[in-house]
Amino acid sequence: MATLLLGGSVGAGVRHAGRPHNQPEDVAKVRDRLVELGFDWVRTIVRGDEREFIRTIKLFQSTCAGSGTADGGDGRVDFCGNTHRWLAAENAPQWKEIFGFIGTGWQSTADFRKDNGGYCTNWLLSVLGDAGFQYQAFCILNRAPDYPPMWVRECSPVRGGDAAGHASHETGLDVDMRLPLLPPNTHLWTDLGSRGYADPRFHRSAARYQLLAINSSMNPQLVYFNDPEFIRDRLCRNYRNHDQHYHIRIRPPARVEGTYR
Ligand SMILES: [Zn+2]
Repeated sequence: MATLLLGGSVGAGVRHAGRPHNQPEDVAKVRDRLVELGFDWVRTIVRGDEREFIRTIKLFQSTCAGSGTADGGDGRVDFCGNTHRWLAAENAPQWKEIFGFIGTGWQSTADFRKDNGGYCTNWLLSVLGDAGFQYQAFCILNRAPDYPPMWVRECSPVRGGDAAGHASHETGLDVDMRLPLLPPNTHLWTDLGSRGYADPRFHRSAARYQLLAINSSMNPQLVYFNDPEFIRDRLCRNYRNHDQHYHIRIRPPARVEGTYR
Protein backbone atom coordinates (compact mmCIF):
# COMPACT_ATOMS: atom_id res chain seq x y z
CA MET A 1 0.00 0.00 0.00
CA ALA A 2 1.48 3.32 -1.05
CA THR A 3 1.58 5.76 1.85
CA LEU A 4 2.63 9.39 2.18
CA LEU A 5 1.62 11.12 5.41
CA LEU A 6 2.57 14.78 5.76
CA GLY A 7 2.19 17.37 8.51
CA GLY A 8 2.02 20.33 6.15
CA SER A 9 2.86 21.55 2.67
CA VAL A 10 6.10 21.17 0.72
CA GLY A 11 7.77 23.00 -2.15
CA ALA A 12 7.13 26.49 -3.50
CA GLY A 13 5.41 29.29 -1.57
CA VAL A 14 4.66 29.82 2.11
CA ARG A 15 2.52 28.33 4.88
CA HIS A 16 -1.25 28.26 4.42
CA ALA A 17 -4.21 27.79 6.75
CA GLY A 18 -2.06 27.29 9.83
CA ARG A 19 -0.24 24.27 8.34
CA PRO A 20 3.57 24.23 8.53
CA HIS A 21 5.48 24.60 5.26
CA ASN A 22 8.67 22.78 4.27
CA GLN A 23 9.22 21.04 7.58
CA PRO A 24 12.42 19.01 7.12
CA GLU A 25 10.67 15.68 7.77
CA ASP A 26 7.94 16.47 5.22
CA VAL A 27 10.52 17.56 2.63
CA ALA A 28 12.39 14.29 3.20
CA LYS A 29 9.23 12.22 2.77
CA VAL A 30 8.29 13.89 -0.51
CA ARG A 31 11.88 13.66 -1.75
CA ASP A 32 12.12 9.98 -0.84
CA ARG A 33 8.81 9.20 -2.51
CA LEU A 34 9.95 10.96 -5.71
CA VAL A 35 13.20 8.98 -5.61
CA GLU A 36 11.24 5.77 -5.13
CA LEU A 37 9.17 6.66 -8.21
CA GLY A 38 12.32 7.07 -10.33
CA PHE A 39 12.73 10.87 -10.11
CA ASP A 40 16.01 10.00 -8.46
CA TRP A 41 17.88 13.18 -9.33
CA VAL A 42 16.27 14.84 -6.27
CA ARG A 43 18.14 12.41 -4.02
CA THR A 44 20.41 15.08 -2.56
CA ILE A 45 17.71 17.71 -1.94
CA VAL A 46 17.58 18.97 1.66
CA ARG A 47 15.50 22.14 1.54
CA GLY A 48 11.96 22.37 0.20
CA ASP A 49 12.64 25.55 -1.73
CA GLU A 50 15.54 24.19 -3.80
CA ARG A 51 15.05 25.00 -7.44
CA GLU A 52 15.49 21.46 -8.82
CA PHE A 53 13.09 20.08 -6.23
CA ILE A 54 10.40 22.60 -7.20
CA ARG A 55 11.05 21.95 -10.90
CA THR A 56 10.59 18.22 -10.30
CA ILE A 57 7.34 18.77 -8.39
CA LYS A 58 6.11 20.83 -11.38
CA LEU A 59 7.14 18.01 -13.72
CA PHE A 60 5.24 15.51 -11.58
CA GLN A 61 2.18 17.80 -11.48
CA SER A 62 2.26 18.33 -15.24
CA THR A 63 2.44 14.57 -15.85
CA CYS A 64 -0.53 13.95 -13.56
CA ALA A 65 -2.44 16.72 -15.36
CA GLY A 66 -1.82 15.07 -18.74
CA SER A 67 0.19 18.00 -20.10
CA GLY A 68 2.87 17.65 -22.77
CA THR A 69 4.94 20.43 -21.18
CA ALA A 70 6.45 20.44 -17.72
CA ASP A 71 5.98 23.95 -16.40
CA GLY A 72 2.24 23.95 -15.66
CA GLY A 73 2.08 23.19 -11.94
CA ASP A 74 2.63 25.47 -8.95
CA GLY A 75 5.57 23.44 -7.62
CA ARG A 76 3.84 22.87 -4.34
CA VAL A 77 2.52 19.81 -2.51
CA ASP A 78 -0.44 21.00 -0.44
CA PHE A 79 -1.54 18.97 2.55
CA CYS A 80 -4.08 16.41 1.25
CA GLY A 81 -4.22 18.29 -2.07
CA ASN A 82 -4.18 16.82 -5.55
CA THR A 83 -0.38 16.53 -5.78
CA HIS A 84 -0.13 14.95 -2.33
CA ARG A 85 -2.78 12.42 -3.31
CA TRP A 86 -1.03 11.61 -6.60
CA LEU A 87 2.29 11.14 -4.79
CA ALA A 88 0.58 8.72 -2.40
CA ALA A 89 -1.37 6.96 -5.16
CA GLU A 90 -0.95 3.26 -5.86
CA ASN A 91 -0.49 4.12 -9.52
CA ALA A 92 1.61 7.28 -9.13
CA PRO A 93 3.65 7.88 -12.31
CA GLN A 94 7.12 6.37 -12.30
CA TRP A 95 10.01 7.74 -14.35
CA LYS A 96 11.56 4.98 -16.47
CA GLU A 97 14.12 4.34 -19.15
CA ILE A 98 12.84 3.12 -22.54
CA PHE A 99 15.92 3.67 -24.74
CA GLY A 100 16.84 0.51 -26.66
CA PHE A 101 14.05 -1.58 -25.11
CA ILE A 102 12.17 -4.17 -27.16
CA GLY A 103 8.68 -5.41 -26.33
CA THR A 104 6.09 -7.56 -28.06
CA GLY A 105 5.14 -5.67 -31.23
CA TRP A 106 7.37 -2.64 -30.57
CA GLN A 107 11.02 -1.69 -30.50
CA SER A 108 12.96 1.42 -29.47
CA THR A 109 15.15 2.41 -32.41
CA ALA A 110 17.88 3.77 -30.09
CA ASP A 111 19.24 5.95 -32.89
CA PHE A 112 18.78 9.28 -31.12
CA ARG A 113 20.30 10.97 -28.06
CA LYS A 114 19.26 8.93 -25.08
CA ASP A 115 19.28 11.94 -22.76
CA ASN A 116 16.88 13.78 -25.10
CA GLY A 117 14.28 11.05 -25.60
CA GLY A 118 15.15 7.81 -23.86
CA TYR A 119 12.81 8.16 -20.87
CA CYS A 120 9.07 8.08 -20.16
CA THR A 121 6.51 7.23 -17.51
CA ASN A 122 5.62 3.67 -16.59
CA TRP A 123 2.12 4.71 -17.71
CA LEU A 124 3.39 5.07 -21.27
CA LEU A 125 5.44 1.86 -21.09
CA SER A 126 2.42 -0.03 -19.86
CA VAL A 127 -0.04 1.05 -22.57
CA LEU A 128 2.64 0.75 -25.24
CA GLY A 129 3.03 -2.85 -24.16
CA ASP A 130 -0.73 -3.33 -24.48
CA ALA A 131 -0.78 -1.76 -27.95
CA GLY A 132 2.19 -3.81 -29.11
CA PHE A 133 0.55 -6.99 -27.91
CA GLN A 134 -2.69 -6.13 -29.69
CA TYR A 135 -0.85 -5.20 -32.89
CA GLN A 136 1.01 -8.51 -32.80
CA ALA A 137 -2.29 -10.32 -32.34
CA PHE A 138 -3.79 -8.49 -35.35
CA CYS A 139 -0.78 -9.56 -37.41
CA ILE A 140 -1.10 -13.20 -36.41
CA LEU A 141 -4.86 -13.30 -36.95
CA ASN A 142 -4.41 -11.77 -40.37
CA ARG A 143 -1.55 -14.08 -41.29
CA ALA A 144 0.93 -11.23 -41.53
CA PRO A 145 3.68 -12.40 -39.19
CA ASP A 146 6.41 -10.45 -40.97
CA TYR A 147 4.91 -7.02 -40.32
CA PRO A 148 7.45 -4.65 -38.74
CA PRO A 149 7.26 -3.73 -35.06
CA MET A 150 6.12 -0.26 -34.05
CA TRP A 151 9.31 1.80 -34.33
CA VAL A 152 9.40 3.75 -31.08
CA ARG A 153 11.63 6.82 -31.17
CA GLU A 154 11.97 9.82 -28.87
CA CYS A 155 9.90 10.07 -25.70
CA SER A 156 11.22 12.48 -23.01
CA PRO A 157 14.59 13.71 -21.69
CA VAL A 158 16.44 12.09 -18.84
CA ARG A 159 14.95 14.44 -16.21
CA GLY A 160 11.88 15.52 -18.18
CA GLY A 161 11.52 19.15 -19.27
CA ASP A 162 12.69 20.73 -22.53
CA ALA A 163 13.26 18.21 -25.33
CA ALA A 164 15.36 19.48 -28.23
CA GLY A 165 13.42 19.38 -31.51
CA HIS A 166 10.01 19.02 -29.84
CA ALA A 167 7.39 21.46 -28.58
CA SER A 168 6.15 18.92 -26.03
CA HIS A 169 7.64 15.52 -25.02
CA GLU A 170 8.47 16.97 -21.59
CA THR A 171 6.43 14.84 -19.18
CA GLY A 172 6.87 11.19 -20.15
CA LEU A 173 3.46 11.00 -21.86
CA ASP A 174 4.53 11.60 -25.49
CA VAL A 175 6.09 9.18 -27.97
CA ASP A 176 7.05 9.41 -31.64
CA MET A 177 6.94 6.39 -33.95
CA ARG A 178 8.41 6.04 -37.42
CA LEU A 179 6.36 4.46 -40.20
CA PRO A 180 6.49 0.75 -41.05
CA LEU A 181 7.96 -0.06 -44.47
CA LEU A 182 7.06 -2.70 -47.05
CA PRO A 183 9.36 -5.61 -47.92
CA PRO A 184 12.26 -5.71 -48.48
CA ASN A 185 12.60 -2.83 -46.00
CA THR A 186 10.59 -4.16 -43.07
CA HIS A 187 13.66 -4.01 -40.80
CA LEU A 188 14.23 -0.29 -41.49
CA TRP A 189 12.60 2.83 -40.05
CA THR A 190 13.81 5.23 -42.75
CA ASP A 191 12.63 8.82 -42.40
CA LEU A 192 10.33 9.17 -45.44
CA GLY A 193 10.31 12.97 -45.14
CA SER A 194 7.67 15.42 -46.29
CA ARG A 195 4.57 13.57 -47.59
CA GLY A 196 6.11 10.38 -46.26
CA TYR A 197 2.64 8.81 -46.06
CA ALA A 198 2.52 8.93 -49.89
CA ASP A 199 5.91 7.21 -50.30
CA PRO A 200 5.61 3.84 -52.14
CA ARG A 201 7.71 2.20 -49.40
CA PHE A 202 5.10 3.00 -46.72
CA HIS A 203 3.46 -0.17 -45.34
CA ARG A 204 -0.11 1.05 -45.19
CA SER A 205 -1.79 -2.11 -43.93
CA ALA A 206 0.74 -2.51 -41.10
CA ALA A 207 0.21 1.15 -40.20
CA ARG A 208 -3.56 0.63 -40.08
CA TYR A 209 -3.17 -2.21 -37.58
CA GLN A 210 -0.71 -0.13 -35.56
CA LEU A 211 -3.05 2.85 -35.41
CA LEU A 212 -6.01 0.64 -34.49
CA ALA A 213 -3.98 -0.86 -31.64
CA ILE A 214 -2.72 2.55 -30.50
CA ASN A 215 -6.23 3.99 -30.42
CA SER A 216 -7.82 1.07 -28.63
CA SER A 217 -5.02 0.27 -26.14
CA MET A 218 -3.16 3.48 -25.31
CA ASN A 219 -6.03 5.78 -24.31
CA PRO A 220 -4.44 8.55 -26.38
CA GLN A 221 -5.49 12.17 -25.96
CA LEU A 222 -3.93 12.85 -29.37
CA VAL A 223 -2.53 10.91 -32.33
CA TYR A 224 -0.92 13.15 -34.95
CA PHE A 225 -0.21 11.75 -38.43
CA ASN A 226 -1.02 13.52 -41.69
CA ASP A 227 -2.19 10.59 -43.80
CA PRO A 228 -5.54 11.64 -45.38
CA GLU A 229 -7.02 8.12 -45.45
CA PHE A 230 -6.34 7.44 -41.77
CA ILE A 231 -7.56 10.92 -40.82
CA ARG A 232 -10.83 10.16 -42.66
CA ASP A 233 -11.08 6.96 -40.64
CA ARG A 234 -10.54 8.97 -37.43
CA LEU A 235 -7.40 7.08 -36.53
CA CYS A 236 -5.31 10.26 -36.32
CA ARG A 237 -5.33 14.02 -36.81
CA ASN A 238 -3.39 16.46 -38.94
CA TYR A 239 -0.56 18.50 -37.42
CA ARG A 240 2.34 20.23 -39.12
CA ASN A 241 5.55 18.19 -39.54
CA HIS A 242 3.80 14.87 -38.98
CA ASP A 243 3.94 13.46 -42.53
CA GLN A 244 6.44 10.71 -41.70
CA HIS A 245 5.78 9.69 -38.10
CA TYR A 246 3.02 9.31 -35.54
CA HIS A 247 3.05 11.41 -32.40
CA ILE A 248 1.01 9.99 -29.54
CA ARG A 249 0.23 11.54 -26.17
CA ILE A 250 -1.50 9.33 -23.64
CA ARG A 251 -3.98 10.33 -20.96
CA PRO A 252 -3.14 9.73 -17.31
CA PRO A 253 -5.02 6.79 -15.81
CA ALA A 254 -7.66 7.31 -13.15
CA ARG A 255 -5.94 7.66 -9.77
CA VAL A 256 -5.95 4.66 -7.45
CA GLU A 257 -5.77 6.33 -4.04
CA GLY A 258 -3.08 5.36 -1.58
CA THR A 259 -2.87 6.43 2.06
CA TYR A 260 -2.41 10.17 2.38
CA ARG A 261 -4.19 10.85 5.70
ZN1 LIG B 1 6.50 14.03 -31.22
